[in-house]
Amino acid sequence: METITSSRQAIALENQYGAHNYHPLPVVLSRGEGVFLWDVEGKRYYDFLSAYSAVNQGHCNPRIQNALIEQAGKLTLTSRAFYNDVLGPFEKYITEYFGFDKVLPMNTGAEGVETAIKIARKWGYERKGVAENEAKIIVAENNFHGRTTTIISFSNDANARKNFGPYTGGFVKIPYNNVAALKSALEDPQVVAFLVEPIQGEAGVYTPADDYIRQVQEACAAKNVLFIADEIQTGIARTGSLLAVCGNCTCEGHCERQETYTKPDILILGKAISGGFYPVSAVLADKEVMDVIKPGQHGSTFGGNPLGTQVAMTALEVVRDEKLAQNARRLGKIFRERMQKMVDKYSIAKLVRGKGLLNAVVINDSEDSSTAWDICMKLAENGLLAKPTHGNIIRFAPPLVMTEEQLHECCDIIEKVISEFN
Ligand SMILES: *Cc1c(COP(=O)(O)O)cnc(C)c1O
Repeated sequence: METITSSRQAIALENQYGAHNYHPLPVVLSRGEGVFLWDVEGKRYYDFLSAYSAVNQGHCNPRIQNALIEQAGKLTLTSRAFYNDVLGPFEKYITEYFGFDKVLPMNTGAEGVETAIKIARKWGYERKGVAENEAKIIVAENNFHGRTTTIISFSNDANARKNFGPYTGGFVKIPYNNVAALKSALEDPQVVAFLVEPIQGEAGVYTPADDYIRQVQEACAAKNVLFIADEIQTGIARTGSLLAVCGNCTCEGHCERQETYTKPDILILGKAISGGFYPVSAVLADKEVMDVIKPGQHGSTFGGNPLGTQVAMTALEVVRDEKLAQNARRLGKIFRERMQKMVDKYSIAKLVRGKGLLNAVVINDSEDSSTAWDICMKLAENGLLAKPTHGNIIRFAPPLVMTEEQLHECCDIIEKVISEFN
């Protein structure tokens, strides 16, 4: 194996031997700890992407690391042809943690979404009585749910779709954050589910109206349609509560504070459920829904393996013990206050929006301009890593273990760079 001694060398190797399916910032990282990343040359950065919110618990979180190492020395994979002694405890732990009867473990987020789609369709045929092959699932415009052929079939990102057809049918697209459009789509008796992100992360951190999710839940319930929440990016304390559907509740773990909690019929989790150590995703639902899946009808070789489930249990413990939701909520407010002051002062920054520590600053330039990219390059030079999404939007999502002092230092960096572009 070739040893990497410079960023340039690593980038050259990726360019020569790797599929060109990403366009990364030219930074080559070799170490991470908490809120920090270091590149091959030893330069330190604040991480403001957190691997798309997968490392909420901070890079190389020592507790999760220990759980991984210990389990890796005992048993890693059995397949589901046999039982293992970690899956059961994980299933009990995660269902109690989030308040559902049952869980179906998978690996990547996209697999979690695929699983939810399959469960919803089967439920539609076997419980709701929809005629075979006629089930429809409502989705929102500008959604991001992953990269499989079925999932990109209902994306409206041209780049994600073009020349990957023929597409999977059975999906109906409506505008996001529009209850009237949802109610009208729900009039169709063949609709079995509405799949939605409580905040659209990839689209540019679009936060809907405060009561949107509550109204979604009520409208779906009224029509016997499953409300599927994709919380792969928003879940696990990122938005200042355990889940974005928890509304303004800040308790760590599941509770029944009905005034804020809007329970989905199907909850999809991924990313931070394993703190960035190992791909784990999970689909949670109550018995009436989950029980439509019978042996042989769905699965995955790695889904529910002892290594992943042990890591996930520990990663969820860390979120609770370190009160990450509260920290995200408190720091998120400070971040948006400081960014708002910056937006008021410099016209190059148009607006700031978000919830908890999932935020975005919109740059005052066209979507096809390179300004946001250039700003991110300058931020990197100044020791802070963030990435533009959709051309002119910069997402800011640090690990949730950040301190207030560190956050202020980061706001200083962002403000300095923005002032230079103004
Ligand atoms: C990242 C993401 C996915 C896909 O997860 P992968 O692990 O990349 O397959 C799905 N939905 C949302 C909301 C996401 O942010």
